[in-house]
Formats: sequence, C-alpha cells, structure tokens
Amino acid sequence: MMATSENEEKRSLELSGDVGFNSLPCQLVNKLVARGFCFNVLCVGQTGIGKSTLMNTLFGRTFEMEEASHYEEEVKLHSQTHELQENTVKLKLTVVHTLGFGDQVNNEHSYKPILDHLDAQFEKYLEEELKIHRSLCSYEDTRIHACLYFIAPTGHSLRALDLITMKKLESKVNVIPVVAKADVVSKNDLKILKKNIMNELLSYGVQIYQFPTEDEDVAELNSSMNTCLPFAVVGSTEDVKVGNRMVKGRLYPWGTVQVENEDHCDLVKLREMLLRVNTEDLREQTHCRHYELYRRRKLEEMGFKDTDPDSQSFSLQETYEAKRKEFFRELQHKEESMRQMFVNKVKETEAELKEKEKELHDRFEQLKRVHHEEKKHLEEKRRKLEEEMNAFNRRKVAAETLLGHALQGCSQQ
Ligand code: GDP
Repeated sequence: MMATSENEEKRSLELSGDVGFNSLPCQLVNKLVARGFCFNVLCVGQTGIGKSTLMNTLFGRTFEMEEASHYEEEVKLHSQTHELQENTVKLKLTVVHTLGFGDQVNNEHSYKPILDHLDAQFEKYLEEELKIHRSLCSYEDTRIHACLYFIAPTGHSLRALDLITMKKLESKVNVIPVVAKADVVSKNDLKILKKNIMNELLSYGVQIYQFPTEDEDVAELNSSMNTCLPFAVVGSTEDVKVGNRMVKGRLYPWGTVQVENEDHCDLVKLREMLLRVNTEDLREQTHCRHYELYRRRKLEEMGFKDTDPDSQSFSLQETYEAKRKEFFRELQHKEESMRQMFVNKVKETEAELKEKEKELHDRFEQLKRVHHEEKKHLEEKRRKLEEEMNAFNRRKVAAETLLGHALQGCSQQ
C-alpha cells in the first residue's frame, strides 16, 4: 500500500447516479441488529434499598432474584444475565448486585470487591484483545456500562461510605446516582436532599456520569436532565387502580404513588436516559474512557510505551526485546537462587546428619561405660558371695569334725 502524502490532493466528485453506498448506515444497522446488543448494569447500595425492585420496574419484568441477607460477612457480587427482545432488537442484559454492601459493622473496604470486579472484566477484555487469535466480534462483553448508585432517602446528604465509594468508582465506570425509595420523603425534603447531594459531590470532586451534550439532537434534553441529577426513583411491580386505569405504583392509606408519573418521581427520566437516549454513549464511554484508562495503565505497568518519532521512547519491538531480556535475566536469577537454596539445604542436611551420628556415638559410648560398670559391680558381688560360701563351708567342716569327736567320747564312756 502506498503511503498517503500530506499534500495529496483530494477531490470531491459528484456522482451522476445512485451507486449504492448510501446504504452503508443501513448495512451497519442490520449487522448490529442481527448480532444483538449487550448492556451491563451494576447496582450498588445497601440491602433492602430497592435495587431489585427498581431493575424490575425499569425493564417491566420480574428478574428472579433471591432476597439478599443483611448478614453477609463481606461484600459479594452476584451477576445475572437475561436475554430480552423489543421488536427486532435483542438485548443481553446483565445485572450485577452488590450483596452485603454497607451492611458490615466496618464498611471501610466495602468498595474493594466492586473495584476488583470492574478490573476483572477489563482484564478479561484486554486478554482477549492481546490474543493472537482474538474473537472480539463474538466476545461476550462483561464490562460494566452503567453503575446505579443507590442513595438512602433518609438523612440530609451522602454518607461517608457513599462519597468514598463513588470517588473510587468514578474512573472505572459511569456512575449514575439515584435517590432510592423517594416516596418516603416529602417533595420539599427531597428537593433539599438532591441539592445537598450534588453540592457534596461537587465539593469532594466526585465525577458522576454526565449525559452527553455534543450531539445536537439530544443536547437540550440531556443538558436539562443533567440538572435533574440525582434522579429520585420509586420502584414497584404492583398494579394499582387509578381512576379506571391500572398503573404500576405503591398504594398508601393516603393515596397512590405512580412510579411512571413524572410528578411523583424520576423513574421515567431515568429509563429514558439509561435505555432510550444514552445507552450507546454509556457503552462508548465504557470502552473509550474507562477501559482505555485501564488498558493504558496496564500496558505502561508492563513497560510498553507508544513510539514517538521525536522522543527516545521504545518501539513495540524494542519493548518486547527488553521485556524478553528482563524475563530471561529474572529466570537466570531465579535459577541461581534456587541452586544456591538447594546447596544450602544439602549442607544443612549433611550437618544435621553429622550431629545425629555424633549423638548416637556418644550415647553408645555412655551405654558401654554403664555396662562395664555394672559388670564390674556384679563380679565384685559374685566374688564376695564365693568368699562367704567358702567361709561357710569351712565353718561347716569344723562343726562336723567337732560333732564327730563328741560322739566318739560318749560311746567310749
Ligand atoms: P434490594 O435488597 O436492594 O434489592 O431491595 P428490594 O428491591 O428487594 O426491596 C426491599 C424492600 O423495599 C421491598 O419490601 C420493596 O417492596 C421495598 N421497596 C422497593 N422499592 C421501593 C420504593 O421505591 N419505595 C418504597 N417505599 N419501598 C420500596
């Protein structure tokens, strides 16, 4: 292929008739529709805050989900994938729940398993990307496209845990804060709460996802929606009767909260923003911003740098060579230290064996001495006994002689 010179002339030509490539967008759409889409949502919030109910309400169906316990020992992530279809468009939706988040006595590291999960999905994608035989077209993307961060409606603003977690998440995922169970606070309190939350996010420099305003078709809508953040939502899958209509809502002794009524809560706004207007932007931001950042850091950690003709930086080939040499050096170093370890181990074992042999020898000598002493002692005893026996025999003979003489005297008389 010839290199294009910068000064090469480009001419615009008018076509005299239809040649067909104006169908390119349609071709692309058809291809994408046939392939289907995927969208992965992460729900972060304490147990019972209304995460499952909201997901069911958003998608208008019940995703079977076991009721979470308040007594999880640590934060665990649980993901469920569902295949949905709306007209001809297929969507593979994965919902990831954070079980036990905010339920521990010490919540200091609650965000850690969430960050690990986000990184693990990036890592999986990066591994696929770096394979020689990669199949990114059919790759099941598990990277999280949107994180709904559930804020409790009680209190005056955010808890420390909320601020810390959102700050940690901001560079890894598109964070969309929502005030959960917004029906439990009055309209006025809710307004103040929303304002306080935004002020606090701003003063702590927490970056949440902003609906994009570059595309003029949605610029106006998105910028007005950005001013409504965080959305105050109410979830319900119950049908309640309002007039002669059945609507999704929550029935209270004093009236009904209709979840899809924009005067009652922001559920419709959230659904519009998340699923109708900005789904593709969320997917794009995940790939171009969050994943790109992860990839860059990871490759830099591995020693890769971009080739810059003006600087002395390495090319890919040079980096590879440098890494290969470093790897062999490390391997040699490891081999040497293992050999040294082996020699030391042999020396240690040898010394231990010698020590044992010496101990055995000493013990043998000691036993020999004891045996010798005992033998001497016994011989001494035997000698004494023999002497006593001889003395006894002598006394016995003398006594017998005396007795013989006495008997002889008696018989002569
Ligand atoms: P999760 O543990 O965060 O998934 O919470 P669930 O969705 O299971 O909801 C826990 C409880 O809160 C259930 O009894 C729900 O009916 C109730 N709930 C869910 N959403 C709302 C809401 O918007 N408002 C009120 N008042 N209650 C809600």
